Amino acid sequence: GRAAAQDYDFFYLVLQWPGSYCDTKQSCCYPKSGKPAADFGIHGLWPNRDDGSYPQNCDPDAAFNPSKVSDLLSSLRAKWPTLACPTNDGLRFWGHEWEKHGTCAENIFDEHSYFQTAISLRDQLRVLDALAAGGVNPDGGYYTLSQIKNAIRQGTGVEPFVECNRDESGNSQLYQLYFCVNASGDGFMQCPVSPGARACGNRIEFPAF
Ligand code: 5GP
Ligand code: 5GP
Ligand code: 5GP
Repeated sequence: GRAAAQDYDFFYLVLQWPGSYCDTKQSCCYPKSGKPAADFGIHGLWPNRDDGSYPQNCDPDAAFNPSKVSDLLSSLRAKWPTLACPTNDGLRFWGHEWEKHGTCAENIFDEHSYFQTAISLRDQLRVLDALAAGGVNPDGGYYTLSQIKNAIRQGTGVEPFVECNRDESGNSQLYQLYFCVNASGDGFMQCPVSPGARACGNRIEFPAF
């Protein structure tokens, strides 16, 4: 059928640090393809409105079809790994993200271009290199929020919102980065609104993975 009209203003590209997903009380499971690289992975590309609300599950007729992304599977395994338990092949995570978020941007994306665009945006950022250039490394050390944000701004040209979670001992740690992408999905922009994400404090651990 015909895609619905655009019902969002921009996207969040959300990246996750696997070390911070895994060292929590809840722990994690590595995907069937093995332990992912020690790098930021994609959580999702989420259409969002300027008032902070967001559409979801927009097209029940567009169920995730793995055969439409068969050429992207090795990239998805490397750059969009699932860490949820029980161990699985990632299709559940990718299917969830496409159905909940991707189907709300069918004015510009089909299933294939949704995943391809998210991968390409992530690759443009090279966040781990930007952090390293600013002296921020996944070494179990502690950093301030401005050290993290400044390093990423200087290295990538854009400043993300930083979300933290807690490790098993209760320390605040770098968990997810929210970058804003324009409504056409082809460039980064300054965020119109902050996500409703968890606070960090000013002593932030960057755990190894
Ligand atoms: P959300 O609805 O928050 O976009 O997606 C989170 C859903 O994806 C949850 O149901 C979560 O269990 C599942 N999921 C699978 N793998 C991962 C992962 O590696 N990270 C996160 N954050 N969620 C995952
Ligand atoms: P401001 O907008 O004045 O920079 O920050 C307002 C509040 O939001 C402060 O408490 C600041 O610590 C917090 N904040 C600013 N940027 C971020 C961020 O990227 N992540 C988190 N978790 N809090 C932030
Ligand atoms: P959580 O409870 O982990 O913060 O969020 C659960 C799920 O809700 C996320 O995985 C994501 O699917 C969705 N979500 C949370 N916050 C936002 C947001 O600010 N914008 C959008 N588009 N989705 C969000």
